[in-house]
Amino acid sequence: MTSENSTDQVVVRLDNVRKEFGDAAALAGVSLEIRAGESVAVMGPSGCGKSTLLNVIAGLDRPTSGTITVHGDDLGSLSESGLALFRRRRIGMIFQFFNLLDDLPALDNVALAAQLTGVKASQARKRALELLGELGIADRKNAYPATLSGGQRQRVAVARALMNRPALLLADEPTGALDSQSGEQVMDLLIDLNQMGQTLLMVTHDPRLAERCASRLIEVEDGRIAHERSLAQHA
Ligand code: ADP
Ligand code: MG
Repeated sequence: MTSENSTDQVVVRLDNVRKEFGDAAALAGVSLEIRAGESVAVMGPSGCGKSTLLNVIAGLDRPTSGTITVHGDDLGSLSESGLALFRRRRIGMIFQFFNLLDDLPALDNVALAAQLTGVKASQARKRALELLGELGIADRKNAYPATLSGGQRQRVAVARALMNRPALLLADEPTGALDSQSGEQVMDLLIDLNQMGQTLLMVTHDPRLAERCASRLIEVEDGRIAHERSLAQHA
């Protein structure tokens, strides 16, 4: 169920979310609210639960307890197929290692995201091409991922994530596998997207990325939010 007005611009709300793997708690009671247009950076040591946090918000994984509401959808009330639909329609996700399909050219990697929601192939390819153009890689539309540089691959992944105009863009260490120059370019891209209104939640190990891209910084330790602070707004 979607009730866009009653959410009062809150895109993400977590109430006391726990996620256990066996005896260990990857998330040990996280409560969090993210408003439309915010850019939130999550930092913390390896293994503290950052990816798990993104995965439960994306509906890739279900929490052991607690509630998660995204864009008016209570994820706990969705069936598996409802959750898959939610993921495709509401969430864009970018990963450290791109997660592109190796046997599809760039354009099809991007277009597929819309085709999976029922958009006609011709219409999906048209929008995919527009997005590749906006991200400056339209000339690589027929290239297979293996022939693209890391920065180009991540741009294709960003285009794919934006295909369905997601309520929330999640990025899990999006510059982690890139050299510093490509990392800067992807970082600039994320800043631009946020300035155009895209709500963004990203995990990063890079304090500079957090400072530049985020309006709020959340520090996670042992599955809990240990500190949270506002950052000076980037220009
Ligand atoms: P981070 O992204 O901060 O490095 P993760 O969220 O990936 O941390 O992992 C948090 C904890 O949960 C770690 O101890 C990790 O080993 C464990 N974990 C994550 N995913 C799984 C899984 N699918 N099965 C078992 N344990 C997991
Ligand atoms: Mg991780």
